[in-house]
Amino acid sequence: MPRWRLALGLGLCLLTSTSLWVLWVYVENWLPMSYIPYYLPCPEIFNMKLQFRGEKQFQPVARSQYPQPKLLEQRPTELLTLTPWLAPIVSEGTFNPELLQHIYQPLNLTIGVTVFAVGKYTQFVQHFLESAELFFMRGYQAHYYIFTHDPTAIPRVPLGPGRLLSVLPIQGHTHWEEVSMRRMETISQHIAKRAHQEVDYLFCLDVDMVFRNPWGPETLGDLVAAIHPGYFTVPRQQFPYERRQVSTAFVAEGEGDFYYGGAVFGGRVAKVYEFTRGCHMAILADKANGIMAAWQEESHLNRRFISHKPSKVLSPEYLWDDRKPQPPSLKLIRFSTLDKDTSWLRS
Ligand code: UDP
Ligand code: MN
Repeated sequence: MPRWRLALGLGLCLLTSTSLWVLWVYVENWLPMSYIPYYLPCPEIFNMKLQFRGEKQFQPVARSQYPQPKLLEQRPTELLTLTPWLAPIVSEGTFNPELLQHIYQPLNLTIGVTVFAVGKYTQFVQHFLESAELFFMRGYQAHYYIFTHDPTAIPRVPLGPGRLLSVLPIQGHTHWEEVSMRRMETISQHIAKRAHQEVDYLFCLDVDMVFRNPWGPETLGDLVAAIHPGYFTVPRQQFPYERRQVSTAFVAEGEGDFYYGGAVFGGRVAKVYEFTRGCHMAILADKANGIMAAWQEESHLNRRFISHKPSKVLSPEYLWDDRKPQPPSLKLIRFSTLDKDTSWLRS
């Protein structure tokens, strides 16, 4: 009796395992992928702590001899796209706006803007802000910081979602040069106090300007400078640098890359902090010696960009001047100085 039971049990076991095996072979063919155990990564790589060599900070570029980079060097209607130190020169046609949108939009960035509106310059704020809402970093969070001696003179311009405006009272100055010179100091102090916690990138812009076409994430970089519209076709010997050796903004004859405008600069907020602080200290040193540089803070900005090269350069599309006709080399104008009555404004 127990024998045939044992045989029956064994037979049943054999039958069950055979049918399970057949079922598995059948099901396996229908699975989307097969399991290959030796493709699994070794668990050790998850625990590995790499000891990288410490990051090497760029040192200021010492004086050296090299040919001047020329924006219109190759073909008269095509702009240079790369500086000799391999920073991109941004202009229409050098980037794909949709791709950049896909890359930058998910980063949830906040872009700060500083503008100064002291004395009669408050009249420019409305137009500046309205045009910025149309064209400047559309779809991104933005924080406008407006420095003024008179907060009541700043108009309430409707802002889009995620866009903020802070009006920051500052002391007015009788001389327009003083207002313009003080910007480096004010911006660096503002970054230290507030902006470093509020924004990722910061652009420092003149207020007597208007946006005419999109200004997007193609402009974002560590340290960003814009080529001045008045000097992109001239040899560097003719750049209006400060040429007196007593000034900390002094630039020698054979030095200089592009002549940059003081009306547009920016970058990562930490880099803008270093930059504005450096310029402010140079301005203070000049002041102690009773010197005002040829083009005030623009001279200091240009001096500093020679030794601390910008990581991205904006073509004059991003800093144009309405008083000039649009040249064939510029496909569009994005940000431009208004034709203004300078002597009345500064009086
Ligand atoms: N600015 C100001 N009040 C002044 C002088 C200058 O608010 O009395 C600010 C303003 O933002 C202006 C910037 O400093 O755009 C630079 O001055 P300005 O535009 O007159 O210089 P320019 O572009 O003509 O060299
Ligand atoms: Mn200006």
